[in-house]
Amino acid sequence: MTTGPYSVEHSLSTRSEVQELVLEQVGRACQRLRPHEDRAYLEGRFNDEIIPIFRDAHLLGLPISSDYGDGQNSDMSTYALAIERIGEEGTGVRTFFSGHISLGQLTLQKWGTREQKERYLPKASRGEIIMAFALTEPSAGSDPSSLQTTFEENGNYYVLNGSKAWISNGSIADTIITFAYPKGKHDGMRAFVVESNVEGYRTQEIKNKLGLASSNTSFIFFDNCRIPKDSILGPPGKGLSIAHSAIMNGRLSVAAGSVGVMTDCIKEAVMYAKNRIQHGKAIGKHQLVQEHLGIMTTNREAAHALTIRAASLKMQSDNKIHDNRLRDEADILVAQAKYFASRVAYDAADRAVQVFGANGYSLENRVARHLADTRACRIYEGTEEILLQKIALKELGNEFKAFS
Ligand SMILES: Cc1cc2nc3c(=O)[nH]c(=O)nc-3n(C[C@H](O)[C@H](O)[C@H](O)COP(=O)(O)OP(=O)(O)OC[C@H]3O[C@@H](n4cnc5c(N)ncnc54)[C@H](O)[C@@H]3O)c2cc1C
Repeated sequence: MTTGPYSVEHSLSTRSEVQELVLEQVGRACQRLRPHEDRAYLEGRFNDEIIPIFRDAHLLGLPISSDYGDGQNSDMSTYALAIERIGEEGTGVRTFFSGHISLGQLTLQKWGTREQKERYLPKASRGEIIMAFALTEPSAGSDPSSLQTTFEENGNYYVLNGSKAWISNGSIADTIITFAYPKGKHDGMRAFVVESNVEGYRTQEIKNKLGLASSNTSFIFFDNCRIPKDSILGPPGKGLSIAHSAIMNGRLSVAAGSVGVMTDCIKEAVMYAKNRIQHGKAIGKHQLVQEHLGIMTTNREAAHALTIRAASLKMQSDNKIHDNRLRDEADILVAQAKYFASRVAYDAADRAVQVFGANGYSLENRVARHLADTRACRIYEGTEEILLQKIALKELGNEFKAFS
């Protein structure tokens, strides 16, 4: 049992023994990672200690089948709890896991052929290759159906041309899931698994981001990349469905990570409020400071409950692949969890900074980093506007659809 200044045990009484064990492992890895993350963030570079530390702990393929390498067979709820804990270390750390596992390995596991799974998953789950998911383009964000990257058949190869933007793990990934239309057409989008050592493949890291200083975010360019025919992922006509199923996993990861951010903001703010003296007493004794903590903890509990419920419904839906009603319900709940958790995490980071006063304005303190970093959670994996419209549509009915 953890006994920090802020204990969440009361809300976790339903954790199984397996979940406790996984969380102990994750907690130990996170403790090892923290000093490296502090340094990497302030130096503005990818924290490359994540890979060896989490590989040693066998945590780089947590929800992947044990048929593959270091896959641990964790269910979605356990994985969500693990991501919550990882989120405490920072959104940059959690974003690595989103790209490598939620959007990368889980997508391959769901849609890949046996050969593709055997080729990539054992290595990915052991951290020997790193994965990324590249859908967004300079002119295609919220509307991925407008993407411009193309593929063309040429003998035993497909030739890929185009560019992707804002790709997490972009410059460090060896294996990328990406999307393109057949050249000259605007339907029939397909997904591909591309290896980064192919000729014509190039990346460029995006610098000067608002936050996420220790996360790698990059452009990817495909310039006449010849990729083997067996790089195609999933059946014809399923490109957008594959993207969407990946994004559902990504959203769950953002929601869970946001809960972790809130946990850390609360721990940090409580500790600070107990120790900082102003007007002759600890600031935690001032009622307006208590208000921040009351709001943060209430929102955290709500976000945690919603995220775990979404993970559980998603798990049920994954086990009943032909139940479209269940899938749609899971889709909405995951969108609600991502929308709500990312919003209240940003609010919690803002309140934690406020409790810290000027010290909260320094990136030396994690609360400041949380504030800068969680802003991204309200944009990636579906912006708030897109998610809210999706959620509202469920109530209004499809005839109110504003866009397709
Ligand atoms: C740090 C970071 C990491 C990322 N990692 C990845 C990654 O790994 N892989 C990947 O593929 N992408 C990634 N992205 C990209 C991300 O998914 C997109 O930024 C997101 O989908 C929004 O697209 P956009 O930025 O082009 O904004 P736009 O789509 O141009 O939207 C701009 C604004 O217009 C609003 N808007 C757009 N359409 C509508 C509408 N129909 N109704 C109402 N409002 C609308 C949006 O909500 C938003 O407020 C990342 C982004 C960031 C910031």
